Amino acid sequence: MHEITGLRAPTGVVSGRVDDTDERRQANRAIAFSAFGLAVTGLVELVIALITGSVGLLGDALHNLSDVSTSLAVFLGFRVSRRAACERYPYGLERAEDLAGLGVAVVIWASAVFAGIESFHKLLSHQGTNHIAAGITAAALGIVGNQLVARYKLRVGRRIQSATLISDAKHSWLDALSSAGALVGLIAVALGQRWGDPIAGLAVTLFICHVGYEVTIDVSRRLLDGVEERMVVAAENAAASIPGIGHAHAYARWTGRTLRIEIEGWVDPTLSVHHADELSCRVSNAIHQAVPEARIITFIPRAMPSPL
Ligand SMILES: [Zn+2]
Repeated sequence: MHEITGLRAPTGVVSGRVDDTDERRQANRAIAFSAFGLAVTGLVELVIALITGSVGLLGDALHNLSDVSTSLAVFLGFRVSRRAACERYPYGLERAEDLAGLGVAVVIWASAVFAGIESFHKLLSHQGTNHIAAGITAAALGIVGNQLVARYKLRVGRRIQSATLISDAKHSWLDALSSAGALVGLIAVALGQRWGDPIAGLAVTLFICHVGYEVTIDVSRRLLDGVEERMVVAAENAAASIPGIGHAHAYARWTGRTLRIEIEGWVDPTLSVHHADELSCRVSNAIHQAVPEARIITFIPRAMPSPL
């Protein structure tokens, strides 16, 4: 999500709309199943963490559960964003997902702070860890759970060619490493090294901070209307390549999953409305080709200054 969060695979274009209903359904099912699997894994880890007093396990459980909350936020944002536009919200409610993303970022940072404080406290107070065998089993469950989820997302992601699911699969694969960290800490404790668990807890905390950072950057970029530069450049080049367009200037922004491009094109001021309209269709088609993510394109004709 964490680009999860940005479940933002190309969703087809308005003109000549690509039918992706089935692929969306498959992607949603994969995300729902994975979230369920991770929720079970995280809850089991959390219960065992409370019983054993293992902070490594606690951090890993919080991390897995915050990943579930990310999926939930994406899902809710998705549901809300499907509501039709109305007079009060003329652009629809698509940015509900970004709002949810903000909440997710807060949850992740809060769990990092909590796991960090608990680990630090345990390191200083030399507290022990109980029921180490149960702890080791739970950490192994964390590895297996994340690995299964990673493989499943990768398989579906490859089948429907969803970049989001594939990168999400990589995320789960890395999360298995986090569980492995908790496992190593507990094994160290089993071998008589008391500090093994709090050190693992601090390592897992750093891992959560990294995820929190990525989610925060991603959400901030979306809230600040950031796009990839290549989209603006490609749209301008595509528009300028149409005969009759002297110069083009593009603005692009995401509203939820919809990429909107506004394009100003300088045209012959004596052009009839009919011809300007035709030109705008050609510009839109060229931009759809050059920027497949573009959903809504607004063409604004500007009068080219006449040569003196
Ligand atoms: Zn994660």
